[in-house]
Amino acid sequence: MPFSKLKISKNILKAIEKNGYKEPTPIQEKVIPLVLEAKDIMARAQTGSGKSASFILPILELYSHKDYEGKAKIRVLILTPTRELTLQITKAFESFSEFLEKKPKAVALIGGESIGDQLFEIQKGCDILVATAGRFLDVLSKKQMNLSHIEFFVLDEADKMLSFGFESELDLILEAIPQKRQNLLFSATYPQKILSITSKITQTALEISIDNEEQTVEKITQRAIEVNHENRSPLLRHLLLEHKWQRVLVFMANKRATENIAQKFIKHGFKAESFHGDLHQEDRNYTIEAFKTKDFNILFATDLVARGLHVDDIDCVINFDLPRSPSDYIHRIGRTARAGKSGTAISFIGLEDDEHFRLIEKRSQIKLQREQIQGFELKGQRIQKPKGQAPIKGKGKSKKDKLREKKEL
Ligand code: AMP
Repeated sequence: MPFSKLKISKNILKAIEKNGYKEPTPIQEKVIPLVLEAKDIMARAQTGSGKSASFILPILELYSHKDYEGKAKIRVLILTPTRELTLQITKAFESFSEFLEKKPKAVALIGGESIGDQLFEIQKGCDILVATAGRFLDVLSKKQMNLSHIEFFVLDEADKMLSFGFESELDLILEAIPQKRQNLLFSATYPQKILSITSKITQTALEISIDNEEQTVEKITQRAIEVNHENRSPLLRHLLLEHKWQRVLVFMANKRATENIAQKFIKHGFKAESFHGDLHQEDRNYTIEAFKTKDFNILFATDLVARGLHVDDIDCVINFDLPRSPSDYIHRIGRTARAGKSGTAISFIGLEDDEHFRLIEKRSQIKLQREQIQGFELKGQRIQKPKGQAPIKGKGKSKKDKLREKKEL
């Protein structure tokens, strides 16, 4: 089905074509017509499904039919969990409105940059405000934004927002925006809390999920390689040389580890970089851009990039350190096989990781054959956690986890 069947006008179609989109993804096919009909929606959508364009395109379409007069006012508020996603959505609005006669002004509000400059941008005139929730609340408290003209409220990656303590911030936000508005909510998973925040936001949301929602994951070849922890770096080098992947994303447990290992790999002649929450925003943007343009091809990162990193053509995701939860696993591996492509996700399983990975498999409803690679065979006894000690993170996150994630932002 072509995009033109979705009642999108020609100036936006032109931009869609320029972006190289040939036809709508399943989520876009379902969501776009409903947004155009002014419906509230709650869509279960993974990153990689094309969910961003599923709200950006119809919002732009509706915007282009309005006869707003005078100075621009904030009509659209989009909240996201990460700076990167915020910037990407803002950029996408700009690129899809390239051929519109009246281009909306989209402003990104993110931490790590001057509030004064951002407020100045908004006050100059802003139609679409894309923000991380924390920064949005900071700016809100300054009482220098007029939110009374908001018509669309979009919550992207709502489940991730919850893990940053968004639930308690939501009331403040809902108090500040008009009651009459169109609400568009997106979440990769549906924990109970999502239902509770949804009911605070809207009573009339249509629930959307896609029959083949696992499609993205199905295109990923998932592998589990058993290897002693001390052999993970040599094994990774071996795999990199063997497979000649163009872009590889390697997940590490902490910030310092990403830097140390990137340095080691550079010494071994690889083109590598690290990415984590302590980097300045400028460095983060620079690193992502350089990864996209293939200035280097191995990115060692913390879970900060597990959601919202829009780099297509990542051939392989490596779980050098295992993710803490099954949902982190899904989000990590979802960085590959995006937009209809295929990809590989490899998890390294050490002596102490077996039980933890089994639980990830169980909760993700997968079962992977354990592999060993010649020359890197697993040696020693598998370590079982003492009874009663949770080997895996439960659904809820500890205070420490929340703090850690907040710091990452
Ligand atoms: P998202 O799920 O919004 O993060 O999008 C995942 C990736 O798919 C992004 O790089 C988009 O640019 C790309 N994409 C979104 N919609 C389409 C489409 N209809 N055709 C091709 N690529 C798309």
